[in-house]
Amino acid sequence: MLDSTRINPTIVMKYLALILAVLTAPLMLTGCTSGDADAFGCATFLSEEGTMTSPDVDMTEGSEFGRGLLSQFTSFRLTTDLSMLSENECRMLPHLFAAADQMESIFWKQAWGNRDELLDSIDDPALREYAKINYGPWDRIGGNAPFLDGIGDKPAGSNLYPPDMSKAEFEAAAVADPELAGLYTMVVRDADERLKAIPYHEAFADEMQRASDELGAAAEYADDPGLKEYLMLRAEALMTSDYQPSDMAWMDMKDNRIEIVIGPIETYEDALFGYKAAAEAFVLIKDMSWSERLSRYASLLPMLQEGLPVPPEYKQETPGTDSDLNAYDAIYYAGDTNAGSKTIAINLPNDEQVQLAKGTRRLQLKNSMQAKFDKILVPISGLLIAEDQREYVTFDAFFGNTMFHEVAHGLGIKNTLDGSSTVRGALKEHASALEEGKADILGLYMVSKLIEEGEEEGDLRENMVTFLAGIFRSVRFGASSAHGRANMIRFNFFSEMGAFTRDDATGTYRADYDKMILAMNALTEKILRLQGDGDYEGVAQFVDEYARVPQQLQADLDRLADAGIPVDIVFEQGLAAVAK
Ligand code: ZN
Repeated sequence: MLDSTRINPTIVMKYLALILAVLTAPLMLTGCTSGDADAFGCATFLSEEGTMTSPDVDMTEGSEFGRGLLSQFTSFRLTTDLSMLSENECRMLPHLFAAADQMESIFWKQAWGNRDELLDSIDDPALREYAKINYGPWDRIGGNAPFLDGIGDKPAGSNLYPPDMSKAEFEAAAVADPELAGLYTMVVRDADERLKAIPYHEAFADEMQRASDELGAAAEYADDPGLKEYLMLRAEALMTSDYQPSDMAWMDMKDNRIEIVIGPIETYEDALFGYKAAAEAFVLIKDMSWSERLSRYASLLPMLQEGLPVPPEYKQETPGTDSDLNAYDAIYYAGDTNAGSKTIAINLPNDEQVQLAKGTRRLQLKNSMQAKFDKILVPISGLLIAEDQREYVTFDAFFGNTMFHEVAHGLGIKNTLDGSSTVRGALKEHASALEEGKADILGLYMVSKLIEEGEEEGDLRENMVTFLAGIFRSVRFGASSAHGRANMIRFNFFSEMGAFTRDDATGTYRADYDKMILAMNALTEKILRLQGDGDYEGVAQFVDEYARVPQQLQADLDRLADAGIPVDIVFEQGLAAVAK
């Protein structure tokens, strides 16, 4: 089933691809209007314009405890092929980086408060460095445990709400003032100790103004009309906290090579209610050749939705096919997205009205993925995957699994079967972990289907073994991360169904391909039913039972730590890093 029936279509596809490549090669050479940055000297321009930051994870000073924490990370430099950029595209970068830096400053305030005061108070240089990586004194990849003396537990609502506020107090006050539950407001106490909402553009007026000015300056150099429109609307949004028009414009951008994702976006930092968006920014350069290859998959979503192994009512919604999927090199991360473990794929916007009108865009950050693959997944496999299966741990499969994870968010259903609520609304604080678990497992399902149908070439064994190795990588993010919990659930579920076995003599795991398919289908059905039923109690019980790290797994994770295999990456980044 895995390797015989697909031979013919695969060979045909290969030849078609070859013929296409030969036909289009001359066009690529003559049809490209940009790429004059080499003559302009983009690298020289950028290194003269800017600096770079590089977290020192191999610190020789500081406490052993602090150095141990730092050693969980490894450093990677963010850059790309600058010869692809036009002079104007190159000239935009300093403005985009400066705008992104403002999100850095805002996120510190949202996550902790006064950055400099905290850093100045830390004597141990290793712990000071670790506080920078975590944007505060709590260990994001260590269950948010405080790593400084005298610091209590991390407030569930971070610094987005007053630390002494109870859920009940908030809920009572929010009835009278719905702005308190707004996506773009900070909640503080007024002079009478009552809860008060302050819009981000007032709470962070200086930063928003500067970021807005920089986006405006960048827009001057934007030759692509879609990008220019987006930059101008985004500049306005930062000043008004009305992001919808710019989200719409972002969805309309199709041909731009330079990309900036900026503003208050994800709500993970608000673990109290999930209401508040945290500030972040990415500056990205589109990888045109990979993007071409990816654009085909969205059109296959309806076929994939139809094939889901669940009763019809659990797949009655129609996935949008107009959504686009592109690959990028990331050249800057700021704020929320740079805190703790690093994102390697983006699926935005979050605004449901924009999603309904225009779909979503999925951005795969290929250089960050390659870093995690080389520096983390390969060494993990060397210790935990059966020797004869290690050859199946490949970057192509890792890239594919991650790519399909993002596409798979579009499969399944968004509303409960009884129509009373969105799945997210019904499952509350468990929604994220279950949705991430869904995307992971449906990602694998998609690959298996596409290979089966001859739509994708490749060896499913690579996807499965790489998927198994990926579980060990992501379980290490810990129980405080939605991705970490999703992977614990999958590990235990797969273990129960015999999708892998552990060889005690070598301490390695072996994928059982046939049983993994069965486990994949069973977990898919389990998750889609819980979502469709909006079964809050059922999910709570499922998470309680499965989102844990059994003793044997913990011992194996400890072996990874003892071997010095990093948990995640930090970035050497900035204009000078791009130019280096
Ligand atoms: Zn996801």
